[in-house]
Amino acid sequence: MEFKKVSDRIYYLEQEDISDTPALGYVRGDVFSLMVDAGTGAAHVERFMTSLEENGLPEPVFSAVTHHHWDHSFGMASLEAITIACKNCAKKLAPFEDVKWTEERFSEMLESGAIPTFCEEHIRMAYPDLSAIEVFCPDMIFEGEMVIDLGGCKAVIMQIPSPHGSDCIAVYVPEEKVLFIGDGLYEGIVGSNWVDDPEEVIKLQKLLRNLDFEICIDSHSGVITKSDALANLAERVN
Ligand SMILES: [Zn+2]
Repeated sequence: MEFKKVSDRIYYLEQEDISDTPALGYVRGDVFSLMVDAGTGAAHVERFMTSLEENGLPEPVFSAVTHHHWDHSFGMASLEAITIACKNCAKKLAPFEDVKWTEERFSEMLESGAIPTFCEEHIRMAYPDLSAIEVFCPDMIFEGEMVIDLGGCKAVIMQIPSPHGSDCIAVYVPEEKVLFIGDGLYEGIVGSNWVDDPEEVIKLQKLLRNLDFEICIDSHSGVITKSDALANLAERVN
């Protein structure tokens, strides 16, 4: 997992396929810095903070969590930053807060679909001891859109339509023409299957077409150009 520089203000810790670990984004403002997503847990957060230190970058004051899936949100318990998520994401995380993670409870969650079976293998890789899982809910909850002036650039944190789920947000940095899109381009996970939602794909297509950005940072693929992201969506509705 390399720490990549996109510009003087935009960085990300690379994703890892084998463990399904997502990229963690970073926006350096002159006053505040913002992290995009909270990662899989303590080890992932530590890796990110070490990368910042090695690169002389300040720790983030805020972390915007792109959606509730474990690989994006479980790291919240290990963060000092103020965590931000949309209302739908907070709602989806609430049942996991204060849970005692045991084999039995984990099996129930897999059976009920609360945790997609697709995630089991990766959760076990990150947490050989399930009792180490700790889930925190976000500190700040918004609906629609919120803007943080980071100093020298803004972070526009916005709910987006997405086939991946109803709680997806993206972080748009207009000055840099960068969009952190989380898993927003992906299909939804139901059990171990990927299920697309053409209506949401069309809505997302419309939003991306009208947004002035050049690249998006996708949680599991890294940098994608705007035209490649739009081409990917177009293929799914034709
Ligand atoms: Zn996801």
